Amino acid sequence: MALNKSFTGLSRKMYNKASQNRQQAGWTRFTRLCWQALGISMKPEEVLNAIYSLDNLEAWKAAWEIIRTKNTDLTEFYLPHLKEIREAVSRLPAPDKPAMRDSRDSIKLALKILESVAEGKCKCSVYLETEQILPESQEKFGLVEVKEKRWDAKAYEDDIECSCTECGQDFNCRVNHGYHYPWSKWVKKTKGYTLNW
Ligand SMILES: [Zn+2]
Repeated sequence: MALNKSFTGLSRKMYNKASQNRQQAGWTRFTRLCWQALGISMKPEEVLNAIYSLDNLEAWKAAWEIIRTKNTDLTEFYLPHLKEIREAVSRLPAPDKPAMRDSRDSIKLALKILESVAEGKCKCSVYLETEQILPESQEKFGLVEVKEKRWDAKAYEDDIECSCTECGQDFNCRVNHGYHYPWSKWVKKTKGYTLNW
């Protein structure tokens, strides 16, 4: 599927192999729906209703909308509802079946981003604490600028130099396309730079 290919930056051959691995690993319908949902766009009120629905899949979709939203819009649309969002997230049910990643992880990450913006920090301060955010995905939404990308064949990872378009913080990010999920490791560059958060 073109969406997955562009999201992960995988070549077609690698993507096919990854798909095969996922099928062998018994990827659930839920997970497929999650990936398909990556391209959706929701209005702020729909995002809030999705979180308040206490449905994990709906909350997952809402989470990615929040993760892809700029600080100013987060402040305007979601911070006034932070208390209700926090309460709804805490009430989301545990997944029925064991999975590689808890389906609530994304909305918990989105909440962490909102908490950090509420503290006056840039949302990118949270990138350091998660493996879920990929620079090239954020770049599509204008949140990150990828400056250089190197393929590290030994580690089988992308080594990406990038910066936050909102506060200017520079990062190095390693992206591993993984056996089940792509994951990232963000490290901030501080040399010669004054942090904005
Ligand atoms: Zn930033």
